[in-house]
Amino acid sequence: ARKHNGKNGAKLFDPLIASLAQDRLKIDTYIEDGLRQDWFDVHLQPIVDLKLGKVAGFEALMRLNHPEHGVLPPADIIRVAEETGAILKIGERIFEKAVAHLARLSCVPGLENAYLAVNFSPLQFCPKLPAATAATLMQWGIPPGRIVIEITEAVLMHHSPDIRDVLGALSGAGMKIALDDFGTGYSSLSYLVHFPVSIIKIDQAFTRSLTDDSETVRRRVRKLIAGIQMVAKELNCQVVAEGIETDEQLSTLLSMEVNCGQGYFLGRPQPVTDILSGLQIEHRPLLAVPGT
Ligand code: C2E
Ligand code: MG
Ligand code: MG
Ligand code: MG
Repeated sequence: ARKHNGKNGAKLFDPLIASLAQDRLKIDTYIEDGLRQDWFDVHLQPIVDLKLGKVAGFEALMRLNHPEHGVLPPADIIRVAEETGAILKIGERIFEKAVAHLARLSCVPGLENAYLAVNFSPLQFCPKLPAATAATLMQWGIPPGRIVIEITEAVLMHHSPDIRDVLGALSGAGMKIALDDFGTGYSSLSYLVHFPVSIIKIDQAFTRSLTDDSETVRRRVRKLIAGIQMVAKELNCQVVAEGIETDEQLSTLLSMEVNCGQGYFLGRPQPVTDILSGLQIEHRPLLAVPGT
C-alpha cells in the first residue's frame, strides 16, 4: 500500500503499515517474554561428511518455543531483534545453549570432536565478543577449534570497522569462519578477500537447481559449483552444500567431490534431547548416509 498525503499534508491511516507495526510489536513482546522466561532454544541440524557418511558437526538454529503459538522460526524474530538491539542478548543466550548442547553430545561415541556452527548477526561483532565466547567455551570445556562462526553478506554491508578486528580475534583464538548462503548475496566474493574464511556454504538455491526441470539449468549449476570448488581449493576452504533434499542431489554432489553437506535428506534440525534419545533407543549410527 502506498502512503497518501491528505489535503492538509497529514498522512492518512495506512492499514498495511499499521498491521506491520502491530506485528513488530507482537514479535517484540515474544522476544522480551522469551528472554525473561527462557523460551529461546536451539535446534541442531547435522552437517555430514558425505564421503564417510558420518556427522562432522551440527548447525545451531534458533527457535522460540512460545507456550501458545508453538515453535517460531527465526526469520521474523531476527529481523525485529536486529531493529531493537535484542539480538545481542539473544545471541549470547543462543551461543551458551548451543555450546552446552555440544558438550552433551560430545559424550556420544563418534561425536567427541563434532563441531558446532553458530549463526551470527552483524551487530554481535562488538569488541567484547571474543572474550565472551572464550568464557562460555571454557565453562563447558569446548576447545575453540570446534566452533564455526557463520556469517552472511549482511556482515560486510554493515561497514563497521570493528567487524574485521573481531573476526580476526575469533579466528586467532582458533574458531573457524564460514561464509553462509554463498553465491546469492551481494558481496560474497569480496568476503573471501577480506575475512579469514575457511568454510564456504553453497546456498540451498544451487543445490535445488541440481535437480531443476531444465537440463540447461542443471548443467550450468554443475559448472558453477565446480567453479566454487576450484576457488575453495585455492583458498584452502572447505565446501558444505546446504539444502540437500533428495538422493539425486546427494549423489550429484558426491560425484563432484563436494564432501560435506546438510539438508532434510540427511537430517532435520532437532532438539538435542531428540537427537540423544534417537541414538539411545534405536541403536543405529546417527544419520548415516544411505548407500555408504
Ligand atoms: P541458514 O543459516 O542458512 O540456515 C539454514 C536454514 O535452512 C535453516 O532455516 C534450516 O532449517 C533450513 N534447512 C536446512 N535443511 C534444509 C533443506 O533441506 N531444505 C530447506 N528448504 N531448508 C533447509 P531456519 O532454521 O528457518 O533459519 C533461517 C535463517 O535464520 C538461517 O539460515 C540463519 O540465517 C538465521 N538464523 C537461524 N538461527 C540463527 C541464530 O541463532 N542467530 C542468527 N543471527 N541467525 C539465525
Ligand atoms: Mg547458517
Ligand atoms: Mg545458509
Ligand atoms: Mg539462509
